[in-house]
Amino acid sequence: MQQDYKTLIIYVLTLFVVVLLIVLKKQQDHLSELENEVISDEEVELVLDSLDKEPMKEDVPKETVIPMRGVIALIIDDFGYRNDHISNGFLELPAKLTYAIIPGHDHSQNFSKKAYDAGYEIIVHLPMENIGKTYGEEEYVLMSYFQEDEIKQRINKSFANLPEAVGLNNHQGSRGTADARVMTLLAKEIKANKKFFIDSRTTRNSLAESTMRKYGVPTNKRDIFLDNDLDEEKITAQLLKLADVAERKGIAIGIGHVKPQTLSVLQREIPDLKKKGFRFEFASKLVY
Ligand SMILES: [Zn+2]
Repeated sequence: MQQDYKTLIIYVLTLFVVVLLIVLKKQQDHLSELENEVISDEEVELVLDSLDKEPMKEDVPKETVIPMRGVIALIIDDFGYRNDHISNGFLELPAKLTYAIIPGHDHSQNFSKKAYDAGYEIIVHLPMENIGKTYGEEEYVLMSYFQEDEIKQRINKSFANLPEAVGLNNHQGSRGTADARVMTLLAKEIKANKKFFIDSRTTRNSLAESTMRKYGVPTNKRDIFLDNDLDEEKITAQLLKLADVAERKGIAIGIGHVKPQTLSVLQREIPDLKKKGFRFEFASKLVY
């Protein structure tokens, strides 16, 4: 009887242990199943690493997968003087760019048509009086001592010379843009012609932006000059500075010139900036 009792206890204990083991095993299986549903930090890193290495799919437009970092309007000044591989080189740049043409030069009208047909935006690069010497453009330049009629007539002659132009910016003009009377006449004429004005900011005393606002002309001003120094490294640095402004403020306006060094930097850097998430837009999109 004693022996039977011991056997029974051993039997019961063994059964209990077996049942316990089965229950524990089931619970562990269930837990590991749950764990598999939640991706671990290590696995996240592995996924990201594989994404970085994976080449971008060709059928996905790049703009849709790169986060936008800023909008840049780039104006290239002083077209009209030249008609060569440099001016034509600008017609191959892969971005929405705005070309500012001085009216009345040998190649002004021809370039305006070519650039417009190639899909670029055209504005009048209006010659205005400088402090110190004002060079060239005798038929078009706005001198501060002109009578009202002469100023109006010259502005309208500029529009007539470049019918593709949708706006203006100033060529030189350190005296003209600081002159309240000249800027008021200019603002009224621009308003009547339904165009916009970008202040090139050739003087810190410029009244352009405030006068344009007063008369309801859409306007904005230049943030960065790209090529005051015609050195490719310095132009590149200025362009990156422009991108920084765009990233900080959301939008930025840069001005460069029809120069071989500027062209070469833009050929190299524009595709790169686009890949980094910067968008180029016409100047007309950045006025308000
Ligand atoms: Zn100029």
